[in-house]
Amino acid sequence: MSITIAGMTKRFDRTEVLRGIDLSVEAGELLALLGPSGSGKTTLLKIIAGLEWPDAGQLRVEGQDWLQLAARDRRIGFVFQNYALFPHMRVRDNIAFGLSVRPRADRPAKAQIAATVDELMAFLQIDHLADRYPAQLSGGQRQRVALGRALAIQPRVLLLDEPFGALDAAIRRDLRRWLRSVHEATGSTTIFVTHDQEEAFELADRVVVMGDGRIAQIGDADQIHDHPATPFVARFMGATV
Ligand code: ADP
Repeated sequence: MSITIAGMTKRFDRTEVLRGIDLSVEAGELLALLGPSGSGKTTLLKIIAGLEWPDAGQLRVEGQDWLQLAARDRRIGFVFQNYALFPHMRVRDNIAFGLSVRPRADRPAKAQIAATVDELMAFLQIDHLADRYPAQLSGGQRQRVALGRALAIQPRVLLLDEPFGALDAAIRRDLRRWLRSVHEATGSTTIFVTHDQEEAFELADRVVVMGDGRIAQIGDADQIHDHPATPFVARFMGATV
């Protein structure tokens, strides 16, 4: 699904968090939103998900006006920073959640849901964890479950907020490779937020550098490293994170 954002602004009280965002994402693209803390990355992601509402601007997905669609009709897969798994549900029920809560007319039969969940757990290599609760999992395993839950609804767009933020370096590297292969297998348009340059450049087709509620530059690693568009980008790229 292609996404087009035009003239988007958002403020919280007196703080202007997004100051006019124009962005086009191609169908099937893997895009990183990169920038320092407080630059507006998560807010932009939440607006696309329908979890926040912009003050002005357009949001179109495949040409359709998304702001007119209720959040639940957008069919977004969202992976939260802290996984936000349901602690009282086993892994298989966490993954099934998005399908089990659909309105009856739109809900697959129980056996169908179970088959989808089994397939996903095998794909994500967490089938041996099916009957565990989140508290019995490692951080990396929780992240896979969170991704499984997001993918179960066959999202039109997959959004990830600092997906590996809480994990240690070796697991992050592992999961990066793995997210890339999940992306190649599913082909869904994917946007992830990070403040980690290495992660952004290694994973994404294009990187959107955000600063202070604006897009400072969009490009691949070479373009942004070799030709930073503004002093802010040059400083940010030179900064050790
Ligand atoms: P990033 O993801 O780049 O760290 P955010 O989008 O989370 O940035 O936040 C941008 C700014 O908006 C920050 O100054 C943050 O404090 C503020 N902000 C985010 N959400 C809210 C909210 N619900 N209410 C008030 N201020 C908020």
